[in-house]
Amino acid sequence: MDQKSIVALNNVSLNYHSLEGETPALRDICLNVQRGEFIGIVGPSGCGKTTILSLVAGLIKPTSGQVLIEGKEVDGPSSKIGYMLQQDHLFEWRTIRQNVLLGLEIQDKISKETTEHTDHLLETYGLADFRNHYPQQLSGGMRQRVALIRTLAVNPEVLLLDEPFSALDYQTRLALSDEVGDIIRKENKTALLVTHDISEAISMSDRVLVLSKRPGTIKSTHKIELSGENRSPVELRKAPEFRHYFNSLWKELDVHVS
Ligand code: ADP
Ligand code: MG
Repeated sequence: MDQKSIVALNNVSLNYHSLEGETPALRDICLNVQRGEFIGIVGPSGCGKTTILSLVAGLIKPTSGQVLIEGKEVDGPSSKIGYMLQQDHLFEWRTIRQNVLLGLEIQDKISKETTEHTDHLLETYGLADFRNHYPQQLSGGMRQRVALIRTLAVNPEVLLLDEPFSALDYQTRLALSDEVGDIIRKENKTALLVTHDISEAISMSDRVLVLSKRPGTIKSTHKIELSGENRSPVELRKAPEFRHYFNSLWKELDVHVS
């Protein structure tokens, strides 16, 4: 096995079982994610993107194949994994600081060190002035930033992001994708980002996977190399290679308006 590989899926297939019968969601997925890598996952709706994240999070087990984190088979949720969703799931009756400390509370890891780390994150990422505010006093973009800090507070190795910007308006999602990408790189985290926004995937990721329609298989992998000094996703969209990646991903996704 590759020593640096932090997340590995080896020939993973997953079938869901329900009263209506069996739904094959994923078939024969092979993926090796390197430490510090940012992976974008795109594919048609219902192709199994969320299912991949649920497998890595240990929320479900593969029907066949293996899911490994740092070389060990996943057998349930682990504090190595942080999950960020489209809804921020902030508790309205808790202040911002109380919200970001929640994960540590649940994991019984409140200590001087962990709370200092959390306060430091709030400070570094521009939320210190809002620590005693309540979620409803914040904009949608700021709330998602709080959700990210809450995820980072428990110090996970791998961040799973499931369409985290979908509920936001275009302007906010551009700015926030910029910030979130920046924060994740600065904190040296590995990330798997599911998105239906091709531009977002290209501008944020080191590698973009395109999934086929259900049962999802990896149709292609695109290593993204954009030129330019500035790593910000907004600036990277202006790189000359951007259009090329966009066109090939668009073709592969084979989007039809019906
Ligand atoms: P995506 O995130 O790409 O839209 P999902 O991973 O959520 O897709 O789902 C993949 C497929 O599996 C879909 O067809 C979905 O309807 C089905 N599915 C998801 N979760 C369940 C479940 N708990 N039981 C049965 N089928 C499911
Ligand atoms: Mg999904």
